[in-house]
Amino acid sequence: MKNDELFARARKLIPGGVNSPVRAFGAVGGTPVFFARAAGAHLWDVEGKRYVDYVGSWGPMVAGHSHPAVVAAVQAAAANALSYGAPTQAEVELAETLCRLVPSLESVRLVSSGTEATMTAIRLARGFTGRSTIVKFEGCYHGHADALLVKAGSGALTFGNPSSAGVPAEVVAHTAVLSYNDVAGVKAFFAKNGKSVAAIIVEPVAGNMNLVLPASGFLETLREECTRHGALLILDEVMTGFRVALGGAQARFGIKPDLTTLGKVIGGGLPVGALGGRREIMDKLAPLGPVYQAGTLSGNPVAVAAGLATLRLVEQSGFQERIEGTTRLLVEGLVAEAKKAGVAFSAQSIGSMFGVYFRTAPPKDFAEVMQCDKARFNRFFHAMLERGVYLAPSAYEAGFVSAAHGSAEIDATLAAARGAFAT
Ligand SMILES: *Cc1c(COP(=O)(O)O)cnc(C)c1O
Repeated sequence: MKNDELFARARKLIPGGVNSPVRAFGAVGGTPVFFARAAGAHLWDVEGKRYVDYVGSWGPMVAGHSHPAVVAAVQAAAANALSYGAPTQAEVELAETLCRLVPSLESVRLVSSGTEATMTAIRLARGFTGRSTIVKFEGCYHGHADALLVKAGSGALTFGNPSSAGVPAEVVAHTAVLSYNDVAGVKAFFAKNGKSVAAIIVEPVAGNMNLVLPASGFLETLREECTRHGALLILDEVMTGFRVALGGAQARFGIKPDLTTLGKVIGGGLPVGALGGRREIMDKLAPLGPVYQAGTLSGNPVAVAAGLATLRLVEQSGFQERIEGTTRLLVEGLVAEAKKAGVAFSAQSIGSMFGVYFRTAPPKDFAEVMQCDKARFNRFFHAMLERGVYLAPSAYEAGFVSAAHGSAEIDATLAAARGAFAT
């Protein structure tokens, strides 16, 4: 079977031929790769071609693909039961593990995706505070729930400007969008509207507009303004959890959120999300409190087994340091190759997340991300793909390294980059 034949078949029955939009290669052009198998740091497509993978299923595969311990845990769980829709010991163990590892978690509810986690966190924040306004930042992605599908026009503060058809203006009328890393903008907004704000939701390291690091003082300001005005701070760690540090970005930056959303790594490649935080807030969730939330497959035993097995690997001593070192080697090598080729390029990493930018310095906000040379990225992307390196098919996504990536994979990637920068 060939990639283009499968894509043609897929497009007949699946909108755009894909089950999640960025997979369609719309941003970079060309035919998406259809995969048949994955192991460690590698993917194999249906044509038998092998790639070094820097997408990691968009984050979850931090231990590497098909890790034997995770596969064994999934097989054992599946042989035992696929689903009960009732409590299990394993979900208690996952809750205990999450609360032990993530500093601010006192109580946690499992769901089946990051989208469900953020959607519920917002409902809970509104239910707890009795307020309506949610503040988010331009370029941050928090899943596809209606109230969060809003972006601002060129950095300006915008109320109720949906970025998807099908989202009524009324539904996003209470969502304000501010500029990432704009401390003064946050202070000014709170000075005027602080009393109506239920919560700020933020990616503590932005990984859905390429990679943007929080400027010093930014997260601290969010914490201070929320505390001063009685609003909740929600750190969306769906991507950064167990990637930026073992305890997430909140551990790395020393920020204590009221609520945290998790996903990706905590399912180890199966669908698991979670929201957690201060007990007095979490106790407002049904069945204890008035904020409703439920899920037929929440805490699914097979998915929970994959998550638990992955977290056991992730918390082994030296795991985070090793993967962070590998990721740093990758970005330093890429910067060196670009320099030799005379290409305007920069790159940076934090934990096992990285960003590559066709721009001389890493961007600090959405507007600067938009200044990257997208055509140059697309050329680089296809040249790398041809050379057996699978990067995210968009200039606006972070990259991910796994524990299975070692010096052999980094060397192969840098050799490919040498050729790709020359194209
Ligand atoms: C991926 C992601 C989500 C959405 O998670 P899904 O499991 O795709 O619904 C939410 N927030 C952030 C920060 C993400 O990276």
